Amino acid sequence: MNLVFLGPPGAGKGTQAAVVSQALRIPHISTGDMFRKAMREGTPTGLKARAFIEQGKLVPDSVTIEMVRERLSEDDCKNGYLLDGFPRNLLQAEALAEFSQLDAAVNIAVADEKLIARLSGRRFCPKCSGTFHITKLADEKICPNCGAELVQRADDNPATIANRLSVYHAETSPLTAFYAQKGLLKEVDGDLPMEVVTAEIGKALAVEL
Ligand code: ADP
Ligand code: ZN
Repeated sequence: MNLVFLGPPGAGKGTQAAVVSQALRIPHISTGDMFRKAMREGTPTGLKARAFIEQGKLVPDSVTIEMVRERLSEDDCKNGYLLDGFPRNLLQAEALAEFSQLDAAVNIAVADEKLIARLSGRRFCPKCSGTFHITKLADEKICPNCGAELVQRADDNPATIANRLSVYHAETSPLTAFYAQKGLLKEVDGDLPMEVVTAEIGKALAVEL
């Protein structure tokens, strides 16, 4: 199954995508994770992306589309994939349609007020890419999955969060209409307990999760 997860930053796309990709045995492709890895490794893509990410802007389409096109051409995507964080605007969605055919676009919806609280309390594990909220951690500094030291993402600060939300509303939210028109859109309420959201996604896709 070729899937796209849509939704604002902090909607829980990454968390849900990890669960769904494992259940369906398809790779979870997060463009945000790919950029963060590229930045850590100092690759040309990472160097190009850094300033945009730190300001909460989108990385230029040329860089992003090429990175995704290459990733989807790898062998492990032959039986499906789950894209998380791409496409993020209409140009990316149109480019994706040229090189791959989707089965569904799942939109995880959450109101802005909730997103700000979620993002500012978010912690990230650089080792296993896990994301957690401080209210759910026994120790704010330790990854409950792998024991590595948790960090706060550089873009989870108030000014950058505000930018990311406005970019989302201006550029990414129109994608729901784009996919609705193609009959691919599945709407899910993201303001529910994590397990309930997973179950809703399963129902929407008619798969066992
Ligand atoms: P979130 O969804 O929580 O904002 P991501 O990890 O998906 O976070 O993305 C972090 C940042 O990486 C974005 O704010 C943006 O700068 C960049 N990025 C990720 N995906 C894309 C994309 N498809 N197009 C352009 N920039 C992207
Ligand atoms: Zn970890």
